[in-house]
Amino acid sequence: MAMWNPWRGCKKCSEGCLHCYIHKGDAKRGVNTNDIIKTKDFYKPVERLKNGNYKMKAGMVYLCFSTDFLIEEADEWRKECWDIMMTKLRAYISIMVFMILINY
Ligand code: SF4
Repeated sequence: MAMWNPWRGCKKCSEGCLHCYIHKGDAKRGVNTNDIIKTKDFYKPVERLKNGNYKMKAGMVYLCFSTDFLIEEADEWRKECWDIMMTKLRAYISIMVFMILINY
């Protein structure tokens, strides 16, 4: 299972946030969840190995397990995040088409 957290942090905004696991986990580690920050993993899905292959293998990716993807503070980062997702999607489609062609 691949995990991608391009940013982290969130703010409680409703009663539904009362038992938020992100706030509980951060409190244990002494991290202020209210700080919404871009992480070092922002470009993780498009990082490549020396041989040119993507570091993150094809498959399901769990996104934003330490934030809210739609949080307002990430508005300026979200467009680039979508672009990264589309880049990966195009790469997967290219690989799938290639595999279909070589198996045909
Ligand atoms: S991650 Fe969801 S539940 Fe947790 S504080 Fe943010 S909006 Fe509320």
